[in-house]
Amino acid sequence: MFRKPNQTEKSICVGLLATLLAFMFWYFLFDYQRQKDESEAYLEAASYGNVLRSEMDRELNSLLFISNGLSSFIKVYRNHLETEKVQAILADLWAQAQHVRNLAVAVDYKITYVYPEKSNEKILGIDYRDVATQWPKIKLAIDSRQGVLDGPLALIQGGSGMIYRFPIFVDGKYWGIISTVIDTNGFLDAAFKNNRNSEFEFAIRTAEDKHVFYGDPRLFNQKHAYIQESRVPNGKWEWVIENKKIHNLHDRKFGAWLSLFFSVLVGLFAYFFAKERYYLSEGALMDSLTGLPNRRSLENRLNYVHSEAKRFNKRFGLIALDVDHFKSINDNFGHDVGDEVIKTVASLLKSNIRDVDTVSRIGGDEFVIVARDQHSEDSLVKVATKLLSVFKKPMHIHGHEIPVRLSIGLTLFEPTSEVALKQLFKQADIALYQAKQKGRNTYSFWQK
Ligand code: GH3
Ligand code: MG
Repeated sequence: MFRKPNQTEKSICVGLLATLLAFMFWYFLFDYQRQKDESEAYLEAASYGNVLRSEMDRELNSLLFISNGLSSFIKVYRNHLETEKVQAILADLWAQAQHVRNLAVAVDYKITYVYPEKSNEKILGIDYRDVATQWPKIKLAIDSRQGVLDGPLALIQGGSGMIYRFPIFVDGKYWGIISTVIDTNGFLDAAFKNNRNSEFEFAIRTAEDKHVFYGDPRLFNQKHAYIQESRVPNGKWEWVIENKKIHNLHDRKFGAWLSLFFSVLVGLFAYFFAKERYYLSEGALMDSLTGLPNRRSLENRLNYVHSEAKRFNKRFGLIALDVDHFKSINDNFGHDVGDEVIKTVASLLKSNIRDVDTVSRIGGDEFVIVARDQHSEDSLVKVATKLLSVFKKPMHIHGHEIPVRLSIGLTLFEPTSEVALKQLFKQADIALYQAKQKGRNTYSFWQK
């Protein structure tokens, strides 16, 4: 059957509830802060990425313009091209540009001019259509009539680089192609040199074949890194930018544990607070069914009466009472009727003792009366006899006529005896037991 929770159980519930609420609060706070820090770090990475991208665009454009100039020269002088003049133009353009490994001009598909010639002799005379690795991008440049950036890739003359292919058309007809071979790392380092920031790490790869050609490839697998794209002639690059701050943010698990720790502290505090509050409240001293003082309250009262009796050399009586065969009342009429009987017993006892005396309910059908200023055993016996007579008439509860009887144990505190309270309780209990033994509905006086 459902029973009312006691105070400890209630306090545990308060503690658990406080823990839960505190956990939700802490975790929400922690997670909110983390998300805020995360998005801040992300935004910083995005804005740094934008700076890098525009620097790279600027640097790349300045290189690509070389082809425009060279193309105009060739178009104008195509019928009077002399190797020396072409070489001189190539040398001048090459000297102005940084990070260009070499410049080459193919007439038709065949590499005819290259600067510097030294260490690039190998490529002179090569027909692009025979270079399977490079031909598709060259063909793309010719077909689309636009510049195409290829690579970074392995160069025929050794090493690696990016190659910008720029097709030349004269009177609408394909004439040849200019190739600008760029030293990738030198070029990118130069592009970023004014914007190095040790708080970030970044890497770049081609969108087409995901070939990482700058930075640490592992960055592309980082969860909270910022990804951006940039356009290059006829292609795309992908960038990943990581704000190193992200590694200093605590992870969610840590947040959960920390929140739990604080929440348990709050829960414990709430538990002790609830318990303490209850003990300070009236409810802790009162029996909820009858409204009489409970065992704890009785102890307080007895302590006072006991020390008063010792101090002023007074006697007082302790009366233990228990309803006879109460179980069968419960069994025959039900628990609710049993409760009513207990309440009626309580009010009868209370109305038949003096104001200075105290009656308390200390258990199911057990009551204790502290009777002050009792001069002798006789005066206590009088109280007991009076109480027994009160219960002579049956009770009328919920339409039932119920005979209710009590057994009573009596004991008298002698100030000279130095008997401790615990002992006095025991004596009253023994006396009560004896009354039960005698056949119930009677009293018994404790005797040594
Ligand atoms: P005895 O004459 O020896 O005292 O027998 P008893 O049947 O009265 O037995 P006892 O005093 O040991 O049992 C008291 C019973 O009171 C046990 C329990 O079921 C019942 N009880 C305890 N608290 C409550 C309560 O709050 N309400 C009701 N209705 N019954 C209670
Ligand atoms: Mg009983």
